[in-house]
This record gives sequence, structure tokens and C-alpha cells, in this order.
Amino acid sequence: MKFLVHTYGCQMNVRDSEAVEALMLAAGYEKAADESEVDIVIVNSCTVRDMAERKAVGKCGNLIAAKEGRGKTVAPHVKVVGLMGCAVKRMGADVFKSLPKLDFAVGPRRFGVIPRLVERCLAGETRILELPDDNEVPTGMDAHVGGTSFQSYVTVLLGCDNRCSYCIVPDVRGHEYSRPAREVVAEVRALAARGVKEVCLLGQSVLRYGVRNAAWGPDDPPSPGGYTEAFPRLLEALNAIDGLARIRFTSAHPKGCTDELVCAYADFPKVCRHLHLPVQSGSDRVLKEMGRHYTRAEYLAAVAKLRAFDPEFAVTTDVIVGYPGETEGDFEATRSLMEEAGFDNAFVFKYSPRPGTRSAALPDDVPTEEKERRDQVLLADQQVRGQARNDRLVGTVREVLVEGPSLRNAARWSGRDSGNRIVVFEPSRPVRIGDLVQVRIREAHPQILIGELA
Ligand code: SAH
Ligand code: SF4
Repeated sequence: MKFLVHTYGCQMNVRDSEAVEALMLAAGYEKAADESEVDIVIVNSCTVRDMAERKAVGKCGNLIAAKEGRGKTVAPHVKVVGLMGCAVKRMGADVFKSLPKLDFAVGPRRFGVIPRLVERCLAGETRILELPDDNEVPTGMDAHVGGTSFQSYVTVLLGCDNRCSYCIVPDVRGHEYSRPAREVVAEVRALAARGVKEVCLLGQSVLRYGVRNAAWGPDDPPSPGGYTEAFPRLLEALNAIDGLARIRFTSAHPKGCTDELVCAYADFPKVCRHLHLPVQSGSDRVLKEMGRHYTRAEYLAAVAKLRAFDPEFAVTTDVIVGYPGETEGDFEATRSLMEEAGFDNAFVFKYSPRPGTRSAALPDDVPTEEKERRDQVLLADQQVRGQARNDRLVGTVREVLVEGPSLRNAARWSGRDSGNRIVVFEPSRPVRIGDLVQVRIREAHPQILIGELA
């Protein structure tokens, strides 16, 4: 029996899907090469914006049509269609109103049961619903697909307790839970022993690691460097793992940008000099409404702290345009904050009201065309800014972790520097995926650096 997992949404979902693949393989299923030979399809859904949810539900609808021999039968052998992830928790039993013929639906933090559900569905059951509670600790969280990948995600913090006004994540992913540090260290050690060079630690607000529940126990060895905060201490322990070359983490809240974190960047060479620090808005009024718990000045101070320690430190962000009541003045404040922060990259999202969130009670009063305009303005600004930030790197040598042939031009290879910048180069001597190479930068573009092996 052959299966596929389709993934929508964030890195957290990518990681959960990988765990499900590993559990399915361990249960004896095989991965299908494509839909033409697939028997079992699992769709991992996102619900952070309305459009994201529609895509996952639509995909399931198409597969169910294929199962019934209707529509364009892309998957002629499909027998079981399941939905997992955030949209399931949001919809609850209503998922079967949208998808009456769905075989199973499993919320986040419960994916460990999927192989067993597949078995039950193959035996004839259908419309099975599994909803996790908000404090559930998943089984199978450390399952990884073996193989040759040089990069891996590792979930360290589940859920979120921030409750930003617009965000549905806390409703669907539950309360914060930090995995015990010794579990995370063991997982990363096993990955490194298998050849993984780079790990990316995941959490919605990953710097809150160890805040709601202790991550380090009394039996754990004390921090050699005298670190007292749980997350920097985790970085210290991971930095000591042989074979591992790089440590990344995402996403961060400015409140977690402590002096100890900056020390950790300085002390631990494997920790990449990049932070994804979503700002959401540059207007103090909007930040307050959103319940972000920082001001524009506090945010900029966090960025300044990182750049004071390393001027090339890469800071990237998320911004929402068209939040309820966002005026032209609020928008201009976001624009100027982005310029002052000098972001290396930015993701802009058009506000989408999510049922049950605080801001869903407010009128969604910025017209769609105006959201679109604000989105385009910020993206155009970022192109100019990205070009200027990258121009400064022309002539320098960047250390690059090789990812493989470039997607646009297979004669060139591509990888990333410590700041997560994409670097493309001609492989003038043999290089392998997962190598660390030095590249002298010759040419800069807004999103990409081009150079040659030094
Ligand atoms: N936990 C992360 C963000 C997770 S959601 C953090 O706070 O850093 C990813 C991004 O989606 C957010 O940063 C935000 O910019 C965007 N987003 C969340 N809810 C949204 C909504 N209702 N409408 C539009 N964008 C939203
Ligand atoms: Fe959502 Fe805010 Fe939590 Fe991020 S920190 S997941 S935006 S509630």
C-alpha cells in the first residue's frame, strides 16, 4: 500500500508531515512516487488565513472525487483520504459538513494515531474524528524519515499562549509545552550521527522555550557557560554535538531577545546569525490592539541589539496589512519601521478574520483592493531594501551550506549563508550536498547572492 502526505502551511506542519511519513513507513506502508500510484492520501492543513484552509479542504475534495471516480481522476487508485492539522481542530465535527466522504480527520498533536486510523479505514471504517486536547503531548514526535537529508526540523515548543488578537494558532495548536531538553538533545544527536548538518528548532514563539513548563530537570548537567535561561542553554548543549554544523530556530517574539540570547549568538559558532522576528505592524496603536506586548521602539531596540553585535546579522519579519481600523497613518508607520529595521526579507500578509479570535468581532473594514495595494507597496520597498542590504556583501566571502543544483539553472549550485541568504555559485570543483564551502560574492540581487568558490 502506497501513501502520500500533502502539506500546506508553516514549517511546523512540514515537520509534523515528516513525522507522519516516518510513522507510516515504520508501519509498513511505502511512499508513492506520485498520485498515479497512491492508495492513501493524507492532507496536512493550515488555517491561519481563510485561503490556506480552503486550499487543503479543496485538495481533499478533489481526492474524494477521484476515489469515487468523479472529476479529473488524477489518483485512480486512491482508497483512503484523511485530513490532519490545524483546520481539523478549527472545524471540529463540521469538517464532515464540508467533506461528507472524508475517511478520517485528526487535529494537531494527535498525528501519532494516523497509521492505526489508516488501517481502520482500509478495513471499511469512515468519518473518524480525532481531536486533541490543548495540553496533549503527541506520540511519535521524534520520528524522522531516514535517508540522506542534510537538514532537519526539530519541534521544541508546541502550542502558543500569546493570544494575539488576530491569530487562531492558540485555538488550534493548544497551550505551550516545552519538550524536555534531554529529549531534544538526544533527537539532534541522532540526526547528526545520521549525517544531518543543519537543524532548525521550531516553536510558534520559540524563545519561550522552558517558560511555561521547565525544560531542564534537576538531573541535567549544569550549563558549562553559566547560562540560566532555558533556550540559550539548549543552544549551548546543541552546539557541542559533533558533526552538526548549523543551528537555526524560528519564530521569535521580541520579548525573548534577551542579553543571554545575544551572548549565545556570540559564544556558539554553530548558531546561525539570523532571526525571524515577526513585527506585524509599526504602529503603536495597532500593536496594542493586536496584543503584541511591545512598542515600535522596543522592537527596534531588539533589532539594534542584534545588529550592534554583528552588522550583517540577518533579521526577517512578518507583517499584516489591513488589520481592522488600520489607517493610512498606521500603514505609513509600518512602512517606516521596516525601513528603520532594515529587514533582510519580509513576508507580508493581508489580514484575514479568523472565527473565534478577538479581532474577528471588529469590522474587517480595509477594502480588499486597499489591502492589496499596501501589500504591493511593502513588497516593492522590500525589493529595494533587499538589494541595498545585499549590495553591501559584494566582495565578501560567505560560508555556504550546499543544498544542491540551483532550481533556475542546473549548471549552478545553491546553498545558504549563516544569515539564511540564498547564495548561487558555479561548482568549479566537485562539491557535495551538505558541504560547507566559502563563496566570494560577485553579484547581488534583492533575494539572492551570486559568486564563485573561494
Ligand atoms: N507564531 C508566529 C506566527 C505564526 S502565524 C509568530 O508570532 O511569530 C504566521 C504569520 O501569519 C504571522 O506572523 C502573521 O503575520 C500571519 N497571520 C497570523 N494570523 C493572521 C490573520 N488572521 N490574517 C493575516 N495574517 C495572519
Ligand atoms: Fe499567533 Fe501571536 Fe502565537 Fe504567533 S505569537 S502563533 S501570531 S498568537
